Amino acid sequence: MNFDFKDQTVIVTGGTRGIGRGVAEAFLAAGAQVIATYRSNTSAAQEFQKANAACKDRLHLKQFDVSEPNQVVEFFKDVEENFKQFEVLVNNSGIRRDSIVGMMPAEDWDEVIHTNLSGTYHMSKLAVQQLMRRKYGRIINITSPIGRYGFAGQANYAASKAGQEAFTRSLSKEVASRNITVNCVSPGFIDTDFIADLPEDQKKKYLGQVPVKRFGTVEEVARAVLFLADRDSAYINGTVLEITGGL
Ligand code: NDP
Repeated sequence: MNFDFKDQTVIVTGGTRGIGRGVAEAFLAAGAQVIATYRSNTSAAQEFQKANAACKDRLHLKQFDVSEPNQVVEFFKDVEENFKQFEVLVNNSGIRRDSIVGMMPAEDWDEVIHTNLSGTYHMSKLAVQQLMRRKYGRIINITSPIGRYGFAGQANYAASKAGQEAFTRSLSKEVASRNITVNCVSPGFIDTDFIADLPEDQKKKYLGQVPVKRFGTVEEVARAVLFLADRDSAYINGTVLEITGGL
């Protein structure tokens, strides 16, 4: 399937590394203007920008924290002033802080919920305010099967991802009449920095659980995001598309 986003502006949070970078690059390849955001890893952002120098007129980087409501407000003011409008928001930024609940520091609970779940709320709230006026939009939230199955040592992460899916279903009902769809893409194990810290034997154990017997690629996740972001996907709303190799 070839996608065409030539006339569209796309915001990808956490768009400079890992899955977000793959999504941003797929939108660039499909002709979109891309605003890729990140929190603090400036060297990864610069490396990403350098690798995509051929698209430099269509690639814009913005640094802010999605869990900080004031920074999100400033970001959307900037978007309105400098880009006039956008069509697609991909809420991809996310973190893990793993430990069993009995040992979990309250700060780790808060940081994961604030980044993954509240960040999705802050970004989506400001986005729909602009998209509702235009009567068109696509919001795609990157979740995880962990939100559905749970996982020992990831209660904070699982709660944040389950919350994103419930948030998606509710918001999708609020904005559907304005031609705005809200969906989730739920990747399984994807080989990025996100899971780079896992011990090799644990990675092997995870691999054994994947029916197609390999980890997924960022390109495979990006393909699902572009599919849901396509204008012709207008009747897909409030759903979760799993890219897991059959987990
Ligand atoms: P990475 O760790 O590779 O990248 C995370 C990105 O999110 C970075 O760009 C980072 O910015 C940004 N980010 C983190 N916190 C914030 C914040 N508070 N404000 C703004 N940006 C922030 O992760 P992945 O690419 O692997 O994961 C992307 C998404 O996919 C996450 O939501 C994750 O939960 C989900 N996912 C990943 C899976 C996997 O196996 N990799 C599986 C299932 C879901 P910076 O570079 O500045 O740190």
